[in-house]
Amino acid sequence: MAQQPVSDWKRSPAHLELLSKYIKPLSIYHIADSYRSSDWYEALKEHSLGAIQRFIEEGYLVRPDISTLMNYKLIIPELKKLCADRVLPVSGKKADLINRLITADEPGMRRELSELKVVMCSEKGKLLAQAYLEMRKQEREEAERLGIDCLRKREFLQAGTSVAKYEANQVFPRGLGIDWRKESLFPNPRDAYILKLTFEETPTVAKGVNQQELEQFRLAAGSMHLWGSDAEAKQLLEGVESISAKCDNLSFARMLWQSAVNKYDLKEYRDLARATGNKNYKIEILTCNDEHVCDVCKRLAKKKYPLFGDIPELPSPDCSHNCRCSYSLDMGY
Ligand SMILES: [Zn+2]
Ligand SMILES: [Zn+2]
Repeated sequence: MAQQPVSDWKRSPAHLELLSKYIKPLSIYHIADSYRSSDWYEALKEHSLGAIQRFIEEGYLVRPDISTLMNYKLIIPELKKLCADRVLPVSGKKADLINRLITADEPGMRRELSELKVVMCSEKGKLLAQAYLEMRKQEREEAERLGIDCLRKREFLQAGTSVAKYEANQVFPRGLGIDWRKESLFPNPRDAYILKLTFEETPTVAKGVNQQELEQFRLAAGSMHLWGSDAEAKQLLEGVESISAKCDNLSFARMLWQSAVNKYDLKEYRDLARATGNKNYKIEILTCNDEHVCDVCKRLAKKKYPLFGDIPELPSPDCSHNCRCSYSLDMGY
């Protein structure tokens, strides 16, 4: 179905996002050929090629100069071959080869790249794109600050809400297909509960760590959960002294987070068993199945445990590295 293109694309975040892809030279088909082209269509409310056409007509995208195009398209062996074809020296760096070729045969170089459908931002395009990216960066930093503030104050639902608000405002929010505007999704009780466990329970692997240090690791673990990535956690742990002889700080923070997730999962499985009256369910322990799994964890994973019996704590305090095991429900099928 045909849609009416936005009249003022400079106010459309999707168009500015598209423009910002072209701060460096890029094919005009880059989006049209990508697997997300239909997502782009939806966000732009027109075909990406139509939007790019408008950027070009209005002078925000231009064809790069010949030297930029050559740098973009040709690799050193290709440049050397072009030089050799013209009986030019093949020595020097990429920029030297390009300059030599342009000096010797600029029309030939233009012919060589005439099929290339590559554009990039003009000066005014660059200004607009950079202002947009800067605005996005500040927005992200603000959301991160807000999230950490909420975690410090133990306002777990609000922490989730601030992240959801941020995501809902993005052209392409994290998580394919997640509708962050849907209020039921975030804040949701699961996330708030996992954050609460992260801050209020101390797993055996973290016993003996002083409270002040542990708080920083809890913040890191909480931000892993909020953002679904390690980037913020890494920042929070920058310059923090190593806390465990068994693993690095980021892995230690991840264990704190996994401990909370594991506790939550176990609670859910038990609630389910009570609700269905099926109390013979068992718990299996899943390991990561890679070469880093230690013998202790491998042994744990071999047995099954009654859901309402003694279940080994995860992360395992006896693990020789950083335990990444998790619980899985065995319903007996
Ligand atoms: Zn282990
Ligand atoms: Zn383990």
